[in-house]
Amino acid sequence: MLLGAPGSGKGTQAEMITRHFGIPVTSPGAILRREKDLGTPLGLETAEITQRGDLVSDKIIIGLIEDWLRLHGGHGFAFDGFPRTLPQAESLLSILNRLHTSLDLAIWLEVSEETVRARISGRLQCRSCGFTTSVTSAKFAERPVCPYCDGPLVRRNDDDMSVLQIRLREFNTKTQPLADFYRKMSILHRVDGNRDREAVFSDISRLIEEKVPA
Ligand code: ADP
Repeated sequence: MLLGAPGSGKGTQAEMITRHFGIPVTSPGAILRREKDLGTPLGLETAEITQRGDLVSDKIIIGLIEDWLRLHGGHGFAFDGFPRTLPQAESLLSILNRLHTSLDLAIWLEVSEETVRARISGRLQCRSCGFTTSVTSAKFAERPVCPYCDGPLVRRNDDDMSVLQIRLREFNTKTQPLADFYRKMSILHRVDGNRDREAVFSDISRLIEEKVPA
């Protein structure tokens, strides 16, 4: 699982993990954005919370993860931005226990607040497939379009400096304690996320390769 502050680049790294290793990745943030675009009851119920920068209730998030794991988690999986609270981390352990599955790695992407600000102010996301990029790397067209599906690349409505304050507060109070939780389980690995995406991915790849049987 990839853990880190808002805008730490977890999304991009998760996409690279799927492309490189073929491991299915899920992100509650991405699921909720899709539900909102589709106008489903779940999307409508959570839109205001995500827009404000607060965390969605543990009950909703755990339900999403449990459903996803049953469908896609049979042969390895990764999470991006989950768990974000201690109750989520504890529930995940009991779900995995029931599914007779183990948790091998928790990767903590360490980023400075300066990096977070810079990434969030330049982040673009495909409205159709969720691909994440930045204003500086999206130079492939006059109008920013997704290189994978031609969908429009847009700013996220929670990528705003005042919303970021709330997201950082949520991270510091509710997510930060997870570092200790996974350190005690001896599966926590810290990676310097302030570098470019290839350098970060190379460290993440090494950690995964040590776990995946050749
Ligand atoms: P980022 O890419 O900036 O880290 P995400 O896309 O992971 O952000 O999350 C966007 C929003 O979705 C969060 O601010 C929060 O409202 C909600 N969310 C995502 N994951 C969780 C989670 N594990 N628990 C509670 N809320 C979540």
